[in-house]
Amino acid sequence: MKIVVVGAGYVGLACVGFTEWGHQVIGVDIDADKIARLNRGEMPIVESGLPELVAKGKASGLLSFTTNLAEAMKGADMCFICVGTPPLPDGSADLQYVDVAVASVKAVMEPTTTLVIKSTVPVGTCVRLGTASNPEFLREGRALQDFLHPDRVVIGVADDVSKKKLLEVYASIAAPKLTMSTASAELTKYAANGFLATKISFVNEIAAIAEKVGADIRDVSKAIGLDPRIGPHFLRAGIGYGGSCFPKDTEALMKIADLNEVDFEILRAAHVANDRARQRFVDKVLAATGPNPKLAVWGLAFKAQTDDVRKSAAIDVVELLLAKGASIIAYDPTAIDNAKCVLGDRISYAQSPSDCIIGVCFLLVLTEWPEFREAIRTVQSLGDCKLLKIFDGRNLLADLALEKQGFEYVGVGLGKRD
Ligand code: NAD
Repeated sequence: MKIVVVGAGYVGLACVGFTEWGHQVIGVDIDADKIARLNRGEMPIVESGLPELVAKGKASGLLSFTTNLAEAMKGADMCFICVGTPPLPDGSADLQYVDVAVASVKAVMEPTTTLVIKSTVPVGTCVRLGTASNPEFLREGRALQDFLHPDRVVIGVADDVSKKKLLEVYASIAAPKLTMSTASAELTKYAANGFLATKISFVNEIAAIAEKVGADIRDVSKAIGLDPRIGPHFLRAGIGYGGSCFPKDTEALMKIADLNEVDFEILRAAHVANDRARQRFVDKVLAATGPNPKLAVWGLAFKAQTDDVRKSAAIDVVELLLAKGASIIAYDPTAIDNAKCVLGDRISYAQSPSDCIIGVCFLLVLTEWPEFREAIRTVQSLGDCKLLKIFDGRNLLADLALEKQGFEYVGVGLGKRD
C-alpha cells in the first residue's frame, strides 16, 4: 500500500514502521526544517531504533519525506493524520491542527484514498470529519517496538471499505485487531490513558500512606501487582505522571464527561492526586534543605529513553522549587535542549551527572534514566559537603544501599522498615 503520514512527530515517525510490513510511506510535515533534517538523515527526536529504521526505509526506496502534500497524495491508498492535539486552556483538546490537516488532505486526495485519524481526538471528531479512526497506544522511548508489536490494533470505521483497508494495512501483525465504531475507538484511547493515569495516582496515594505507617511501597506494589486482576504495570510510586499524553488526555476526558453530564469524580481525583504527588516531594525537599537551597537535579525528560519534556513531572518539580527560591543545576542525557526552551537560564545545566553535583549537598533524581544508577556508584567526591542527601522521585536508587556509601537517601513511599 502507499501510505501518506501527515505530521512527523513522535507518532508520525513511528509510522515509519509501516515500511517493515512492505508498505510505501511518505512522511509529510509543514515544518520544513524538520523535513530537511529527516532528508539529511538527522532525527528531530530521540527514539530508540528510529535512525536505523529511517535509513533502512530510505535505502529500500519505501520511505521518503516531503512538505509537498499534494504531490505525496497522488495515488495514495491511505492517509494517516498524526498531528498534535494539545490542550486548550479549559482542558479540552485543541483540534485546530487536525482540522487544518484533514482539510488540506481532502483538498488534494483522490476518491479512493482512505483517510484515518491516528491523533488522539475527542469522541465525535471522526464522524464530524468523515474519517476512520485508528488511535495509537505507543509509549515514547519504545515507540517503534510498540508500533511494530502492539498489544492490539483498534480500528474505528463507519464503512466496509475503510475496515478492509485498515485490516489489510495491519495484516502482518499477530495482535488482535478490534473493529468498532469510530466513537468507540476514540473513547477507547481516552479510557486507556485515563485508567493508567488513575492507576499511577492510586499507587502514589498508597505511597503517601506507606510513608506514614512505615510500609515500603515497593513491597506493596509488587504484591498487589501479582494479582492478575491488577497487573504489575504502572504501580511505581513517584512524582506523578507527565508527558505529552496522560495530563492532556485526562483533562480532555474530564471535559468529554462534563459535556455529556457524567460526573467523572474518580478521574478528577486522580488529576488532583497527581499534583499532590509532586507537591509532597517538593515539601520533603524543602523541609530538609531550608529556604533558597542549592540543588542538583538528575533528569528533566518526562521519562527515560526520550528527549520529550512536555508536561514533564521533573520540570514541574523544578518550577515549584524555583518558585521557592531554589538555585538549580541539572543534567539529562537527552533532554537539555528541550528543557532550555522551557526553563531557559533560570537554571544552569551540567555536562555530566558528576559535574552536576560538584559542590552541591542535595541531589534530586527526577527521571528514571538507568545510567544514574551507575553514576551514583562512581561518585567519589562529595565536594565541600559532609553528606550528599539524595531525594529520589522515582525510587530509582532505592535498592542500592546508598547509606553505606555515606549518602542520606529519601525515596517515595519508603516508610522506615522494621
Ligand atoms: P508532535 O507534536 O510530536 O508532532 C506533531 C507534528 O505534526 C509536528 O511535527 C507538526 O509540525 C506537524 N503538523 C502540524 N500540523 C500539520 C499539518 N497541517 N500538516 C502536516 N504536519 C503538521 O505530536 P505527537 O506526540 O506525535 O502526537 C500526535 C498525536 O498523537 C496527538 O494527538 C497525541 O495525543 C497522539 N499520541 C501521542 C503519543 C506520544 O507518545 N507522543 C502516543 C499516542 C498518541
